Amino acid sequence: LREEERKAWLDKDRRYVWHHMQPYAASRNPLIITGGDGAWVTDLEGNRYLDAMSGLWCVNLGYSEKELAEAAYDQLRQMPYYPLTQSHLPAIALSEKLNEWLGGDYRIFFSNSGSEANEVAFKIVRQYHAQNGEPTRWKFISRYRAYHGNSMGALAATGQAIRKQHYEPLAPGFVHVPPPYCYRCPFGKARDACDLECASIFEQVIQWEGPETVAAVIMEPTITGGGVIVPPPEYMKRVREICDRYGVLLIVDEVICGFGRSGKPFGHQNFNVEPDLVTMAKGITSAYLPLSATAVRAELFDAFKDDHPYAHLRHVNTFGGNAAACALSVRTLELMEQRKLVDRARELGEKLERLLEPLRNHPLVGDLRFFGFMAGIELVIDKQRKTPAPADVVGRVIAACKNRGVLIGKNSDTVPEQNNVLTLAPPFVISDEELEWLAKVVIEAVREAR
Ligand code: PLP
Repeated sequence: LREEERKAWLDKDRRYVWHHMQPYAASRNPLIITGGDGAWVTDLEGNRYLDAMSGLWCVNLGYSEKELAEAAYDQLRQMPYYPLTQSHLPAIALSEKLNEWLGGDYRIFFSNSGSEANEVAFKIVRQYHAQNGEPTRWKFISRYRAYHGNSMGALAATGQAIRKQHYEPLAPGFVHVPPPYCYRCPFGKARDACDLECASIFEQVIQWEGPETVAAVIMEPTITGGGVIVPPPEYMKRVREICDRYGVLLIVDEVICGFGRSGKPFGHQNFNVEPDLVTMAKGITSAYLPLSATAVRAELFDAFKDDHPYAHLRHVNTFGGNAAACALSVRTLELMEQRKLVDRARELGEKLERLLEPLRNHPLVGDLRFFGFMAGIELVIDKQRKTPAPADVVGRVIAACKNRGVLIGKNSDTVPEQNNVLTLAPPFVISDEELEWLAKVVIEAVREAR
């Protein structure tokens, strides 16, 4: 494009487009992305960037998978839309495939986004308890630092103060507990000398709230956007046991951890727990079309079979389970199976860990955390005191990566002084050489920021 055409697009962007999450000043100079190829994106000026965040942790198959586009196109020509008040073949096929990936017996409810998948989970859980003879169970427990979505219920479940400012009051009935944040243990314990107080706190809080009022716990297998906070190996199992003891359901938010990102089909499979509900989005279509799902253990569905005229779930969304999105999702999962991309993601994650190891001794790096094919690099300015690196230092590392052609992320708005974790979650189609270069760039950028 000629210079004046590029400028015209930017002027129109500045005039008409409201950018997600961006402060005004930052939103004035967006990357305007026009194309993609594998793990790379190209902007309006022709600059190429290696997208080490897969967009928003979602473009797992990269930016140029023609087979996905074709799956959607074929379905759009065959039958573009029909609501899931009835049914269609792509939704049936995808529900079956999701059950294979989950390795259990689940009913699938389709929506369009991760937030909606969580909202649906909350409604299902409350109605389930009401129809299962326990109508007083209505509260949800989640963790500080977790993100569960933007809508009034999903944001209420979220444990990040800045995200909520000016939007409160949100949905009532959401209670938070501290995260399993070993680097900054909220219970003051050392990593190898604790009794999983971060898990036991669920029991304490259930008792304090009154067990008969607690409906469910919602958690990601690893807190992702909140700073790649990886729990101790036994944590999730312990929480599951506590839930079982008190008749509390367990909702696992697999919006990011699902579909191979964790090195297994779903994140919770790393911890040997069986959730009651699983919510998923993002990688379900590798982000090529909007789609999300709430998978519900089949026994729970029994409570919705009653003859009473209102015993069914009275929830519909026009676009949820869109036929083209479902067909594209089936193709996504088939390609992942054929190309063994879950195993590949695990290998890539192990390799990334080896490559970034030299950072561990760097004075700016307080902690390095890995889960499957994602990494969190926690920056501090005083390693002894673990003082979080301020925004300008974090910003300098991100800018230094971008200047070299690599887009990395950081944790989302928890509180102003705690957005100090760099995040990496590259597409699974990245090559070994590209990953090596990416790690080199990140290491250089950290060294330069000091
Ligand atoms: N849950 C988690 C763990 C997420 O990371 C996100 C989005 O980043 C959501 C839910 C909400 O998904 P969406 O943005 O599709 O509504």
